[in-house]
Parts: sequence; C-alpha cells; structure tokens
Amino acid sequence: MMLPPTLEKLVPDYIKRFEAYIPSKPDDELRKIYGCSKLYRLNNNENPLGPPETARRAIEAFPPAQASVYPSGDAYHLRYRLADIFGMHPDQFLVGNGANEVIAFVIKAFCQQGDNIITADKTFAVYEWVAEFSGFEARLVPLVDYGFDARGMIDKIDERTKILFVCNPNNPTGSWWNECTLRSFLDRIDGKRIVVVDEAYREFVRNADFPDSMALIGKYPNLVVFRTFSKMYGLAGLRIGYLAGSKEVVDIIRRTCIVYSVNTLAQVGAFYALADREHIARTHEIVRAGKRFLLKELDLMGLPYVHGEGNFVMARLPMSDSLAYRKMMKRGVMVRAMTGFRFPNWIRITVSHQEALEAFVEAVSGIMKENGEL
Ligand SMILES: *Cc1c(COP(=O)(O)O)cnc(C)c1O
Repeated sequence: MMLPPTLEKLVPDYIKRFEAYIPSKPDDELRKIYGCSKLYRLNNNENPLGPPETARRAIEAFPPAQASVYPSGDAYHLRYRLADIFGMHPDQFLVGNGANEVIAFVIKAFCQQGDNIITADKTFAVYEWVAEFSGFEARLVPLVDYGFDARGMIDKIDERTKILFVCNPNNPTGSWWNECTLRSFLDRIDGKRIVVVDEAYREFVRNADFPDSMALIGKYPNLVVFRTFSKMYGLAGLRIGYLAGSKEVVDIIRRTCIVYSVNTLAQVGAFYALADREHIARTHEIVRAGKRFLLKELDLMGLPYVHGEGNFVMARLPMSDSLAYRKMMKRGVMVRAMTGFRFPNWIRITVSHQEALEAFVEAVSGIMKENGEL
C-alpha cells in the first residue's frame, strides 16, 4: 500500500518492510467461504479435550460481577502456585497474555538499536517477528536434520547478540535437545547472553532425557524458560503463558511488562488447570493413539513426514501447501500450511481425536486422488 507522504515520514523503515500476520477468519465465516458444514481445526495444536475439568468448573463458577474489577496485576496466586510446583520463588515467574507476550517482554528488556537475536530459520516465527518489527536483526540458523543446530547458533554470535531462542521441542518439527545438549550449549554461552528455551509443548514430552529446565535455572542464571496454558491445558482462548528465570533476570524483564495484560478469568482458569490430576495422562493417551493412526495412514499414502515430541506431525505433499490448504478447507479440514515456516509443500497437522484425524485422512487422500497422485 502507498503511504501518504506525511505518514511515510513517521514510519520507521523496519516497519515499512514488515508484513503484518494475517490470522485465519472465524469458523462461521470460513464455513461460508469454503462451503463446508463442519470444520475440523487441526492448524493450531490445540488440545481436543479442551481445558481440564478443574479449570472448567472454575470458569463456570466465575462471578460475572468480577469482570468490572481489574485483575491481579502480577498474577499473584498463579505465581505462588507455580513457585510451589517447581520449588522456586514466586518472583522467578512472569505471567503474560500468552507466551507470545512474554517473547516481547524479553526482547524489549535486553535489546537496543544495533543488537541482534539468534534462532532457527524453521521454527516458531514470533521470536523473529518481534525482533524485526522492533528494529533488531534476527539471525536465522538453518536446522540440521530438522533440529536446532547448537554449533551453528554459537557461530553466529557477535558482540551485539543479546538473546538466543531455542524452541524445545521445536514447533513444527518436534525435534528436541536433551539435557546434555542444552547444558553444553549453556556452558558454551557461559552466562554472556540470555538463552530462552520455549517449552510450549513441554507437557507433551514423554522422554526422560528431556531437560529439567526449571532445575537448570539454578545453575544458569541467564536461562529463561517459556511455558503456556494454550496447548496441553486447553486455555488458548483465554491467552495466558509465563516465563521463569533467575530472580536477577526476571527483575529486569519485569520492567517491560504491561500491567493488567492478563485477565482475571485466564488467571483463575490457569490456577485451577494446574490442579487437575487426570488431564495430562488423558491427553497423552489421545496423542499417542492419534499419532499412531496418523503415521500409519501417511505411510499408506506414501507421504513423507517428520515428527518428534509434541502434539503435531508435519507431512510433505506432492503439491503446493497453500493449494492443498484451500482444497482441504472445502472438505472441512483445516491444517497449517507451512510455507510461512519456510517449509513449502509441507503441512502441519495437530494430533487430535480419531474422528478429526479420519476426516483429515479422507481429505488428503481425496485431494491426492483428484490430482492423480493416489
Ligand atoms: C503456541 C506456541 C506459543 C504461544 O503460545 P501462547 O501462550 O498461546 O501465546 C509459543 N511458542 C510456541 C513454540 C508455540 O507453539
């Protein structure tokens, strides 16, 4: 779009270069556009079980009159609960409007003009986006074997590098660093930069070699861990996530927090979600069974795939992912087209319940037959 000259003068170059993210339309609109009566959303790695029972009850019992009162500005009770669970101090946690918001907190706290951050080329894009629309360079290191390249990231460090972002497990490939890899990475960084480990999918991980990052904070005061209530805990619509770190580092990041950005209902939902004893095990079971089914079907269709820990699988199609996206939408199935993640021709599928995955398999095999591929 051409900017009027007066506005043009006001806009920094890095904003002019930046393209806004276009979110998908609401389901009712999408059903109209694509002419489908039902829509399975397998695009955002949401939990098909929804929130835990404990959180549902708390949300239902929420007094509407409470909506007129500002929330706790620092998610007081939730932080105390987290401190209790992880054996840490409440001041080691900062709660945000989704983990997305805490990404911005960290970048604002440490970067100034001329600084850079380092992450992978094919990972959750928000680290890169926040850096770039804030005027900082994002240095992107190619994945190796679909995983974060520790060596490559270290090689990109210069004197202006402030933060290294590692998505563990990685969205979208599911690859992950074990305790040993993370520790040796942190040893090499030697406390000189901030290392963020984004553990949005931590609660899905079954492997015992996965790092106990909360415990590592005691040894590495430059380590910051992200968690969210959007995935395992099924509270994506309420927007709540958090970071954890050493008191010193959190004390710095806290200065950039937007007070009251986390609403009361989200705080209540998250607090009670942590109390549920069955939700995680039930979700693990759905993901385990769903993955088994999905991988078997992808094998049968001869589609290559990549997966690891997490509730998603990435598959390569013999056609453009954006074309496949539109064709699958007409069949009532929404997946994530991966061109935006720099994986053209790939899609990412959320591992959901059987009915949704069957709809997915029917849709992909349908479009492949249409294309003469199956
Ligand atoms: C979903 C996701 C988030 C963001 O979660 P919100 O708390 O909903 O903002 C962060 N990181 C990764 C890797 C994710 O997949």
